[in-house]
Amino acid sequence: MYNKLTPKIVEELIGIVGSNNVIYDDPEALEAYSHDEVAEKHYAHMPEAVVKPSSAEEIAQIIKLANKYKIPITPRGAGSGLSGGAVPVYGGIVLSVERMNRILEIDKENLVVVVEPGVVTNEINNAVKEYGLFYAGYPMSVETCYIGGNVAENAGGGRAVKYGVTGRYVIGLEVVTPTGDIVHLGGKVMKDVTGYDLIHLMVGSEGTLGIFTKIYLKLIPLPQAKVDLLVLFEDMDTAIKTVPKIMTFGRIIPTSIEFMDDLSFKTACKYLNEKIPFEEAGAMLLIELDGNNKTELEEQYEIIGNLCMENGAIEVYVADNATTSERIWRIRRNIAEAWKQFSPHQSLEDVVVPISEIPTFLKKIREISNKYRVPIPCYGHAGDGNIHATPIKPPELSMEEWHEKLEKLLEEMYVVVKELGGVISGEHGIGHKRKKYLPLVLEPAHIEMMRAIKKALDPNLILNPGKII
Ligand SMILES: Cc1cc2nc3c(=O)[nH]c(=O)nc-3n(C[C@H](O)[C@H](O)[C@H](O)COP(=O)(O)OP(=O)(O)OC[C@H]3O[C@@H](n4cnc5c(N)ncnc54)[C@H](O)[C@@H]3O)c2cc1C
Repeated sequence: MYNKLTPKIVEELIGIVGSNNVIYDDPEALEAYSHDEVAEKHYAHMPEAVVKPSSAEEIAQIIKLANKYKIPITPRGAGSGLSGGAVPVYGGIVLSVERMNRILEIDKENLVVVVEPGVVTNEINNAVKEYGLFYAGYPMSVETCYIGGNVAENAGGGRAVKYGVTGRYVIGLEVVTPTGDIVHLGGKVMKDVTGYDLIHLMVGSEGTLGIFTKIYLKLIPLPQAKVDLLVLFEDMDTAIKTVPKIMTFGRIIPTSIEFMDDLSFKTACKYLNEKIPFEEAGAMLLIELDGNNKTELEEQYEIIGNLCMENGAIEVYVADNATTSERIWRIRRNIAEAWKQFSPHQSLEDVVVPISEIPTFLKKIREISNKYRVPIPCYGHAGDGNIHATPIKPPELSMEEWHEKLEKLLEEMYVVVKELGGVISGEHGIGHKRKKYLPLVLEPAHIEMMRAIKKALDPNLILNPGKII
């Protein structure tokens, strides 16, 4: 179906981006681009070459070349993805945007920042905060992932309860299409119904419908104060049942409501050598509030603290300074890394169910965990129902046994999610890791619509093939 790269085509690539920006015939250097953060090796695949363009024009030329010779192209950001999205499953070219890492403009009048796709997400806030501005996207990988990857995955993260996910802030895109045209969608305008909403077709398209080369992000005023609450509960059910009460009875929408079960936080604490005073806690909520008025925040955390205690919390800790806040958030951010120390083979899932169904989902997960004798720590974004249920390979299983078991276990988990009215990915995407499960949870007509869009925009199927559908 696809052709192999030849030395002659590689010469043409060098003609576009220069010899320093092409990796070819160097297995060690190519290996780094063969995988993302999905731990399982069998999802990896070696590229034949990596190219590192510096502009939309260079990318357009590379894409035209790929169409001419029928070579697949896989866009790549920082490679922190958790669905194998940046893995070149058919070989060919990996197109890395790592050199396109400039913040092009901070427009204070219009509250817009214009960036290239290879900017590390955290750097956006470092750059805009001196103007009293704030970019609200906050995936837990914020210190390593690129904004282009966030747009391609419609990344969520810790602040989505109050601020929503990446797509809410994308108001303009420069995109190189799969046939090598450069198009400009939206811009600095806050409203746009001039035709189909192609920006939000591109957002979350996982590098299959276009390559983003410029991104316009909406900024908001930087909140002046923030406070974190760490609330300990005896068990997960009691913790989760408190979450909607914070919003309904408390009438407060926190910035974040994260949850961790005991398996998760105990493993992270051990990994970080962190001591938590209540070892007997079975679950934790990490609640963040932000705003401009310190007194108002104090009132809000009093209300939430009281609500939690009335609803069965063991203890509420308040972190109102940066050091203590960071200590708490470090536990949450390091859960996945901590489990890798225990077993490098884990399947980090990110299912979503309606918030009221979280307790039922967790009950079912415990049943699945017992049935398969596989630990499944659960943590994630309780405020939006997004749960990182993470089956961990028991050390005594062979890899073959593990893969066989995991496939059945995931299928069972996804069926439960569907029955509860949920979806199988809230932020990590389908990529090629979850592709085979899509027919299990989506109607055939839904999948056909996606297939038709892909075929219309990418007739030669050269852009990131083997993903989603
Ligand atoms: C420890 C850890 C914590 C994480 N926490 C979160 C979290 O809280 N929330 C969350 O949503 N995700 C999270 N992730 C997953 C991951 O960081 C995000 O999916 C992130 O958006 C990926 O960005 P990236 O630059 O690494 O993209 P990559 O992994 O390089 O690529 C991801 C996808 O984007 C496409 N792509 C990349 N750049 C472009 C471009 N310029 N144009 C078009 N397509 C492109 C690729 O083809 C691929 O399909 C986490 C990952 C880790 C390892």
